[in-house]
Amino acid sequence: TLVKNLESKPVIRAYPTERISDVAKKLVDNNINHLPVVDESGKLKGIVTSWDIANAIAKGKTKLMDVMTKRVIIAREDEPVDLVARRIDKHEISGLPIVDKDNKVKGMITAEDISRLIGKEK
Ligand code: SAM
Repeated sequence: TLVKNLESKPVIRAYPTERISDVAKKLVDNNINHLPVVDESGKLKGIVTSWDIANAIAKGKTKLMDVMTKRVIIAREDEPVDLVARRIDKHEISGLPIVDKDNKVKGMITAEDISRLIGKEK
């Protein structure tokens, strides 16, 4: 199975200038843990997780720019899912933005999505 063949929810994005509280709201309202951070053209700039939001609050940071992770581990649409699973394991992360050749965010793939896929195969 390739990444592009996985069922996924519509991707919710965050923007570098957004307030931490608004980003927290997006995570909670959508019941998710990862948000890709994109610029106006949809290009990937970072990733933010609930851990980063907790960290922001702990340190009194108010700008997403200051707490998002800028070196993002990504997935590509044409990659096999098992390659992504190995990347998740290697880097001890649980969600990767799926980006195209222009670095535009097409979706997210999470450990949960992969578990669901394996569950169906059995
Ligand atoms: N860096 C701290 C440490 O090692 O103790 C905390 C790790 S924290 C649990 C997970 C971190 O991984 C978050 O800061 C998050 O932004 C980052 N992260 C999650 N998914 C990522 C991805 N696909 N690429 C790069 N970083 C990612």
